[in-house]
Amino acid sequence: MEHGPLGTFDHPAGVPPDSPGRSRRLFHVERRVRGIRHVPLARGLEGETVRRPEGYRLHDTSAGGHAPMEAGAMSRILTIANQKGGVGKTTTAVNLAASLAAAERRTLLVDVDPQGNAGSALGIRRDDSEHSIYEVLLDGLPLADAVRKTELKFLDLVPASHHLVGAELELADVAGRESRLRAAVEPLAPSYEYVIIDCPPSLGLLTVNGLVAAQGVVIPLQCEYYALEGLADVLKTIELVRASANPGLKVDGIVLTMFSPNNLANQVADEIRKTFSDQVFQTVIPRNVRLSEAPSHGKPVLLYDVTSKGCQSYLELAREVTHRFGAGGVA
Ligand code: ATP
Ligand code: MG
Repeated sequence: MEHGPLGTFDHPAGVPPDSPGRSRRLFHVERRVRGIRHVPLARGLEGETVRRPEGYRLHDTSAGGHAPMEAGAMSRILTIANQKGGVGKTTTAVNLAASLAAAERRTLLVDVDPQGNAGSALGIRRDDSEHSIYEVLLDGLPLADAVRKTELKFLDLVPASHHLVGAELELADVAGRESRLRAAVEPLAPSYEYVIIDCPPSLGLLTVNGLVAAQGVVIPLQCEYYALEGLADVLKTIELVRASANPGLKVDGIVLTMFSPNNLANQVADEIRKTFSDQVFQTVIPRNVRLSEAPSHGKPVLLYDVTSKGCQSYLELAREVTHRFGAGGVA
């Protein structure tokens, strides 16, 4: 067991600590994570393996204030996941979604975190009289019935609610519990170019629903001491979902968040890039006070301080995402 700048993990025999073999150890950790492809995710999931399309063909519609889209283009469903708390999942989900919307990409942000931070960051109050993702997951309400408009013309939101706190337990007895979100998103996905799902800080059923519904995962990673430990866990869960309910799931990218240029952060960033190479987005999100202030004003950062470094970095991330997935969200 070794304590390094990337956290505490077993290192392979014969590679001494703090040697040039450090990145080999990271490869080893990654290989270990990759070597578990065929473990069934959970009781009952094995039979749910489905062939997923690479995307959903977009409806040609200009209704409801939305931009007309090219019929036949494809949508992309991205889940933002990391079971580690406070690494920038919601900040990334909200500001990536807002940046895509600012570029006139029709975007739906779906909050599956009981904390409901994505909604409050967009100025949408949790209101128990309105529908939320809870009724969608538990009662089979169509996702479209829970959609709210936001301040941005091209951005819609499906909020969470505090009822979601008990959803992990309530879902446990529901048929197809891991694929409830996928079933809800599928009919609506063609109305959007991007669907972004914000997950809670756990690898429970809500996050699994997010992973089963998605075509790709974006993993926010803070460049800190225990970064790799958290990453190994989320990669392992992704492999489990791939091996069972969603074989087409891709890691769309690791995004380095809350970056402050110091020796440790630089070292962690270098190691992550060496290990995961082009799976790491070029854009690095700096630690920026404007990003942490914006949610208290109920606004994405681009409506709070568009000139801030935080805002510019999320706009850049959105450019990278659209570049990767093409004009209509296609890889
Ligand atoms: P949770 O696991 O609880 O859902 P999270 O992973 O969604 O957390 P955020 O809520 O996005 O993390 O961020 C945690 C805190 O850090 C928030 O207060 C947020 O405003 C702040 N924060 C996020 N990114 C940045 C950044 N780049 N610069 C400064 N503050 C940031
Ligand atoms: Mg969050």
